[in-house]
Amino acid sequence: MRGLMMDTPLLVSSLIKHAAAQHAQSEIVSRTVEGPIHRYGYAQAHRRAQQLANALTALGIVKGDRIATIAWNGYRHYEIYFATSGMAAICHTINPRLHPDQIVYLLNHAADRYLFIDLTFVPLVELVAGRAAKLEGIVVMCDRAHMPDSKLDNLICYEELMDGAQDSYEWPIFDENTASSLCYTSGTTGNPKGVLYSHRATVLHSFAAALPAGLCLSESEAILPVVPMFHVNAWGIPYAATMTGAKQVMPGPGLDGASLHEILDAENVTFAAGVPTIWLGLLNHMREHGKRLDRLKYVVIGGSAVPASMIEAFENEFDIEVRQGWGMTEMSPIGSINTLKPWMQDLPPSQRMAIQIKQGRPPFGVEMMIESESGEALPHDGKAQGELLVRGPWVCSGYFGIDDAGVHRDGWFATNDVATIDEQGYMQIVDRTKDMIKSGGEWISSIDLENFAMSHPDVQQAAVIGVPHPKWDERPLLLVVPVPGKTPDKADIFNFLSDKVAKWWLPDDMVIVESFPIGGTGKVLKKELREEYKDYALPQ
Ligand code: ADP
Repeated sequence: MRGLMMDTPLLVSSLIKHAAAQHAQSEIVSRTVEGPIHRYGYAQAHRRAQQLANALTALGIVKGDRIATIAWNGYRHYEIYFATSGMAAICHTINPRLHPDQIVYLLNHAADRYLFIDLTFVPLVELVAGRAAKLEGIVVMCDRAHMPDSKLDNLICYEELMDGAQDSYEWPIFDENTASSLCYTSGTTGNPKGVLYSHRATVLHSFAAALPAGLCLSESEAILPVVPMFHVNAWGIPYAATMTGAKQVMPGPGLDGASLHEILDAENVTFAAGVPTIWLGLLNHMREHGKRLDRLKYVVIGGSAVPASMIEAFENEFDIEVRQGWGMTEMSPIGSINTLKPWMQDLPPSQRMAIQIKQGRPPFGVEMMIESESGEALPHDGKAQGELLVRGPWVCSGYFGIDDAGVHRDGWFATNDVATIDEQGYMQIVDRTKDMIKSGGEWISSIDLENFAMSHPDVQQAAVIGVPHPKWDERPLLLVVPVPGKTPDKADIFNFLSDKVAKWWLPDDMVIVESFPIGGTGKVLKKELREEYKDYALPQ
């Protein structure tokens, strides 16, 4: 027997319509590329999104068309998110840190009809636009006064485009499984693949993200996504914040410690989200200048493993709670968030930390299992490690334009991450399959070694890679970026590690480096490090 409830589709447009009606004055504050801070409420944001939908219609955009963006986090980017999806077109966000040839590949693969860019990216787009076959025009996200001199001949001014359009638009109602946005994986471990989000997935993901054990969003909170809108839709924050009416603070291009501190402080941000490398910059800045952020209650850190030293720094020095998150572009991205169960709050600090460095528990909507190499389900005992498989309504069921990428098994998505799951449900990433070090037929987790190395007071960042070895296949090499002014001593570091890991896990050597190669999404590029050190002569 069918239930007698309305079959109202879950659409992205319903989020902003609701925010405009219920949270009209709650603000979206943006640091613009042009300079000044821009602020408006959800009601005005909604009117501008409607205006843009009319403008796009006038350009001939119809349902299913792809509109690309290369832009920072800001209010115009937000308007594009909602205008495109709302009219059943698809917002395709492109990461400007990719190589220009990759950007050309993405524009062509997605067959984008228009490209919206921030002023910063005019020189980049000059390099690529001529090679994007389907591109009909490029819209620069500024007013007439700021329009750049450019050799591109098909530039459109965003504000002029808007001026010619009405600010009321009836959002169409359609099937909730329609595509809403497109984001390609960053290609850290392979070629970029397009993940095509749906309206239904986006709305359900927003519910999960907003929960207290997630990003804890409501109209009393102010959230700053440091994570860019060109990377997995800023972890879905623009949608989840809109659903709840939370104030949104968009940092624009200012992602260094000083700029972040300034806007977090000035806008009374209570919640911020980003990758570990970003938070290192903020912590260094606050320590050097004796600054604090007393209104900031939580930082969500994810994208790569969060070292214990970073959790301790936020919590002990600055009284800011860290919530580690794990996810993937293919998961919209939230797969797990680490919050402690009530009884864990009173555990001694070392026991609490042993839980906090795990990647956390899945929210309702995500199911997880771990599987052995021979395909058996492994126990959730915190010890057995195997490939992590996930499923749920915001996990991808395939890639855009690829028939079968071979990443699904019996309805589960294979993450390529190796993990454990403990009796309490906490998942811990042991490593990415490709980053694990195979020594004498056994596996060494680079994440574990890095985590321990980073708890040494002289080590700011650590990366452990496998270097070919004639007898053992591979042996670990520890690369460290020192804390400014310190010179980590190899014997001292190895001594520090020796009571934390098994003897055969101890790296064979240590190299001090100034910095690590960082990829487009703020992660250390281990692939490049492995290439650089592939002929490294380990001491015998
Ligand atoms: P890419 O694969 O190109 O880096 P994603 O942003 O989709 O793009 O990265 C997802 C991967 O990032 C995960 O599969 C996992 O390996 C890693 N990751 C994300 N969050 C964490 C975390 N908290 N701890 C460890 N690894 C993480």
